[in-house]
Amino acid sequence: IYILAIESSCDDTSAAVLHNDRVLSNVVANQDIHEAYGGVVPELASRAHQQNIVPVVHQALAQANIDKNSLSAIAFTRGPGLMGSLLVGSSFAKSLSLGLGIPLIEVNHMKAHILAHFIDEPGMKKPEFPFLAVTISGGHTQIVRVDDHFTMEVIGETLDDAVGEAFDKSAKILGLPYPGGPLIDKNAAKGNPKAFDFPIPKVGGLNFSFSGFKTSILYFIQKEVANDPDFIEKHMNDICASVQDTIIRILMKKIKKAVKETGINRVAIGGGVSANSGIRKAMKDAEKQLGWNTFIPKFEYTTDNAAMIGIVGYYKFLKGDFADERISSKARFAI
Ligand code: ATP
Ligand code: FE
Repeated sequence: IYILAIESSCDDTSAAVLHNDRVLSNVVANQDIHEAYGGVVPELASRAHQQNIVPVVHQALAQANIDKNSLSAIAFTRGPGLMGSLLVGSSFAKSLSLGLGIPLIEVNHMKAHILAHFIDEPGMKKPEFPFLAVTISGGHTQIVRVDDHFTMEVIGETLDDAVGEAFDKSAKILGLPYPGGPLIDKNAAKGNPKAFDFPIPKVGGLNFSFSGFKTSILYFIQKEVANDPDFIEKHMNDICASVQDTIIRILMKKIKKAVKETGINRVAIGGGVSANSGIRKAMKDAEKQLGWNTFIPKFEYTTDNAAMIGIVGYYKFLKGDFADERISSKARFAI
């Protein structure tokens, strides 16, 4: 089975070709244009997708060395995401499936972040069911109980900001460019994580909250800068290390609670923030100290990519679960 997959939910245009559960190509075009605005501008994202989609699909087919007439189906991201961005991918996928006379498969982006663990690739192990998927990205923070490829239940999520936003907004307060998450990670490696103390929010159950955390950093920085205008510059690495340490402690507290409550100690992380070295280390530590089995996908399958859309497409193809061309995109789309 050959699946062409298309992802365009946010600011990356991506196309991939899969042969069964193996990735033959996974092309991602990033949109640099948003950097100047300190965040993703939806209208610009949509326009950039329109410019990128044809060359990105061409490149994915060329790299996979597959003619479009050999494709079995086309999978695309139905949501959640930015409506203008989703529409570019879905319109393209619909037209091509109609033109080639092959089935169309709609994919939930958040499910795809989870099923990315099932891509067949050396160096990646597939979690056994049931497992806990922790999706940490720019738009989401969820703990999901996964019973099989299609039976998933969100058992905890953020009530306000996503963890990626917590990283990016903290970085913005420190004057770092967007997206600041990777820069905090880089600076944190050179700093002392216990240098500054930020409060851990109190939230019930397995849910998260990051908006109060962001505000506490803002007030802290404002106060210190009022005393010493060079405060940020002098303490950049220590601030970043302390911010990262606090975010990781917030995450780990709830993941540990989820493991305890469900009795499931297989934990698979996904989404862009799983690139963070602090969370990766915390996962390794939990393996050693708590006997968990943890799963981290290869970097290119953690941030937005079409290969993860393709693996969901593959499993849906096996079930014969196809969409028709009248299907609408969904900006909000529950797992
Ligand atoms: P969603 O999947 O919820 O729609 P998204 O697709 O925008 O959101 P991703 O591309 O999965 O999100 O992840 C992007 C986020 O990951 C950004 O907030 C970015 O700062 C963060 N991020 C990437 N690398 C790191 C890192 N090393 N440390 C911390 N954060 C990181
Ligand atoms: Fe994503």
